[in-house]
Amino acid sequence: MTHLDLERDHRCADFLERLSRYLDGDLPAQERRAIERHLHDCPCCEDVLDSLKFTLVACHEKGRPALPRDVRRRARARVTELLRQAPRAKTGAR
Ligand SMILES: [Zn+2]
Repeated sequence: MTHLDLERDHRCADFLERLSRYLDGDLPAQERRAIERHLHDCPCCEDVLDSLKFTLVACHEKGRPALPRDVRRRARARVTELLRQAPRAKTGAR
């Protein structure tokens, strides 16, 4: 693992911590911009955000304005799982 990978992992963890608040529109503009910048050069996190957004949209379509805590927890678990898999997929190990 290179230094760059380590740094990215660290930033991804940071990103994850704020992701749900970002989607809630609960972050100050400065932090939103930092997240958008990270998304721009991290395809892995972009994927994660896409699947999370999909979950949110599906929820809204069912007529529930607020995301149930259970769904939110599962979405977050899935995000963590995706991020754990990503670095391994890159090196080709299974
Ligand atoms: Zn990332």
